[in-house]
Amino acid sequence: MPAATLVIHGGAGTLLRSAMTSEIEHLYTEALHSILKQGATLLSGGASALDAVTLAVSLLEDCPLFNAGKGSVYTRAGTHEMDAAIMDGESLRAGAIAGVSHLRNPIQAARLVMQHSEHVLLCGAGAESFAASHGAQLEAPQYFHTETRYQQWQRATQQSGTHLDHDTANLLEKHASDAPIDPDKKFGTVGAVALDSAGNLAAATSTGGMSNKLPGRIGDSPIIGAGCYADNRTAAMSATGTGEAFMRSLALYDIAAQMRYLQRSLAEASAHCIMDILPRYGGRGGIIGIDRAGNIALPFNTEGMYRGVVRIHESPVVAIYANQ
Ligand code: ASP
Repeated sequence: MPAATLVIHGGAGTLLRSAMTSEIEHLYTEALHSILKQGATLLSGGASALDAVTLAVSLLEDCPLFNAGKGSVYTRAGTHEMDAAIMDGESLRAGAIAGVSHLRNPIQAARLVMQHSEHVLLCGAGAESFAASHGAQLEAPQYFHTETRYQQWQRATQQSGTHLDHDTANLLEKHASDAPIDPDKKFGTVGAVALDSAGNLAAATSTGGMSNKLPGRIGDSPIIGAGCYADNRTAAMSATGTGEAFMRSLALYDIAAQMRYLQRSLAEASAHCIMDILPRYGGRGGIIGIDRAGNIALPFNTEGMYRGVVRIHESPVVAIYANQ
């Protein structure tokens, strides 16, 4: 039986070489490290893959370094609209929410949709009231504001708008503006996949979407088979990148189909998808995946992807750049 394993990502993109100081790198790797350790502790106590990916993505959502939950990017209208999905590889049940602006942890709301509704995907106000009626925590819009994302949005709209005072930004936000991966060219979705000690797989993905997106735009993250997918027969996977390309190519389902019908390994199928198929759709980004034997794959066609792996009773391994 392979060891229970958790794999996470915090988005892929273009490296900002000027910002590669060891101090800033340390901030990102420490955040990934700490989340992996908490996930591994849960898994080593016999928790399900579903619980492990829910915890890991909730922690990534709470960390302002990443574009999900607190730290989500701004839409063109200056609002936050978040998407998330979760899938259980054993039952093949899935839940997702899209275009929500007040849910502190969108991934937990997606799980509520999976477990307490007869639907797969709820959006907007209906998703928020459904989740709140099942105990999900709501936040005022200011909760999701971070100085980094606000400035990023200002640059994107090329307005000279009022700049908030950097002095008031907390340490994380201050450093996030110097992120190793360029925040202006980064796909900042977060995600987790896990294999538990019972041999089951699960996947979870959560995002603020693309900076300066049109209000109402929904990306791949909450679309089952595009940004999130899990099937015990093949693999659990979470994507980050150009959402429209992942949707048009049904990227994650394509990987699962290659594995199931062509008997390709996760590594072969995911490399083919990310390096060959996705670019034909104009897509940039990457995925994380794990199969039932504990094989993992983390291909990306950008310069970097925040990522990490932990097998229980072993130390977490985290990386940002290619060839690491
Ligand atoms: N895939 C996400 C989206 O299109 C963006 C990202 O990965 O950051 O919404």
